[in-house]
Amino acid sequence: MIYTVHGLENDHHVREMLLCLLPAETPERVEFAPEGTDALGVAIDHTGTETVIRVCCTRGGRQVCVEQRAPVTDSEEDTKRAQTHAVKSAIFEAVTPFLDAVPEWGSLTGVRPAKFARGFLEKGYTPVQVAQLMTEQYHVSPARRALAIRSAGIALDCKKRLHPRDISIYIGIPFCPSRCSYCSFVSHSIEKAGRLMAEYLDTLCAEIVHTGKIIKQADLHIISMYIGGGTPTTLSAEQLERLLDTVQNAFDLQYMTEFTVEAGRPDTITEEKLHVLAQHDVDRISINPQSMNDEVLAAIGRHHSAQAVLDTYEMARGIGFRAINMDTIAGLDGDTPESFAHTMDTLIGLNPENITVHTLAAKRGADQHDRVRNAEKHETVRQMLDIASQNLTAAGYAPYYLYRQKFMAGGFENVGWCKMGYECWYNVYMMEELQTIVSLGAGGMTKLLSADGRKIRRINNPKYPYEYNTSLEKINAGKQALLAWASEL
Ligand code: SF4
Repeated sequence: MIYTVHGLENDHHVREMLLCLLPAETPERVEFAPEGTDALGVAIDHTGTETVIRVCCTRGGRQVCVEQRAPVTDSEEDTKRAQTHAVKSAIFEAVTPFLDAVPEWGSLTGVRPAKFARGFLEKGYTPVQVAQLMTEQYHVSPARRALAIRSAGIALDCKKRLHPRDISIYIGIPFCPSRCSYCSFVSHSIEKAGRLMAEYLDTLCAEIVHTGKIIKQADLHIISMYIGGGTPTTLSAEQLERLLDTVQNAFDLQYMTEFTVEAGRPDTITEEKLHVLAQHDVDRISINPQSMNDEVLAAIGRHHSAQAVLDTYEMARGIGFRAINMDTIAGLDGDTPESFAHTMDTLIGLNPENITVHTLAAKRGADQHDRVRNAEKHETVRQMLDIASQNLTAAGYAPYYLYRQKFMAGGFENVGWCKMGYECWYNVYMMEELQTIVSLGAGGMTKLLSADGRKIRRINNPKYPYEYNTSLEKINAGKQALLAWASEL
């Protein structure tokens, strides 16, 4: 869709809102839109005491115009925030009359809707007031606002329990046995990049040892650890043992309350590897079927059957982990609400402590074709998520964290569900940005949260294993920032 903007330098929010509402159309800014053509016009006037935003959307010869006003206050930050909100809200109101389905997250485009809701709870709003605001000003549906406010409350309680010196560790293993068709992670199939794995493990162990020394020097408390990827169990049992031995020797783990390893793909899991995890105090693992429909599994490039998921789950239960998570994805090609219901019923029947329900997201750099396909799945995904929500609730699970990604089918969200008392707190710390997360390995992004919790400093490790394997000196030097950060706590 073409659009014009007058009176606004940075049109980032206009593009963002248009992509959210019309994901199948690429927004293109033009100087002038001929009368009668399908276009969006945004005009902004500043009167001194307020900003007046006028948005007109023309489609198929019909036009809808909306006007919104945002106050100018003493705070430049607040003024800007109010203006951004009013621009997005006006675009939402002007465009949605032309849509078959109204996006349930309304004019909220961020990846952390619970953090957004928590911001208001922290300012003293009651949950009822936050609900009212999310509906009236941000057009969020009742189901979505309930999800956000519930997760916000959990994060708020969690935040109160955290000590300033508490941190979590993330370790990335960016290898998988094969690449899933929908994957947008930095992960390499071992077929293509397996030769890098041994060197990767050497580099990673060296980074762990170095980081362990800095964390001890900075007197920080590691309260949770998460080894993800990729698929960490792509490593052999011997390699996993070496990695976990290094972790145990390098870090002081006396404050740890949970230790997760993504076992991920059933085709990488063996009894020997699960024993190695359990012997190193890993108490939570993920076994991620995504679907319990063999045709869907084959279509997405997973080289395992639904039966393999059942067998692996039974094996893991026999070994005895405190919690097992299972991931599903709503909107996979070839899946239907009926076959998705079968997946949910089968997983619920296994009784894992956590079930995470993702919505299919277009890969980074997805072309218009992918975005159109995802947009067309809105109704199917809505039905699937409703099935998940109803069945999980009936079985005693409750949602506890959520996040969104760009170009999710139907614009929905990913939600972590758990049995009472089985929240994975690492997920809450990370998604709600409640504490510092030190990330190791290729693609790792360390986030240092300032003492007042308002600012985050990011330190990126090289993205790809081949870059990572040759950058240890630089990576280790970057970790010095942890000492400076800890000295300000
Ligand atoms: S298992 Fe996960 S990380 Fe690996 S290829 Fe599939 S989606 Fe990507």
